[in-house]
Amino acid sequence: MYNFKKEFDWRSTLEFLPTYEVLYRRNTNKIENDKCKRCGKEEKEDWEHIWLCEDNEFTINEIVQESIYRFEKYLKDLNQNEEIEILRTYNFEFIR
Ligand SMILES: [Zn+2]
Repeated sequence: MYNFKKEFDWRSTLEFLPTYEVLYRRNTNKIENDKCKRCGKEEKEDWEHIWLCEDNEFTINEIVQESIYRFEKYLKDLNQNEEIEILRTYNFEFIR
């Protein structure tokens, strides 16, 4: 879902992707509890847990590093060297 600037609109998109916590609260389809179905732990499945669940295929750190790598490659293919320098300047802070 994109906003009027043609940017990806996470806020609106996430409203259409409810977690078990939201489904349970809304009493949707007889959801019996708000716990994560992937790890089976007694963790409430909210957006924070979705990103940090230990049963995720990739960690959030791996996703961030891969995304930065791909974006830098994309900029390199376009010869956007100044943009690459900016990315590298803020890269470390962003990952932290
Ligand atoms: Zn989990």
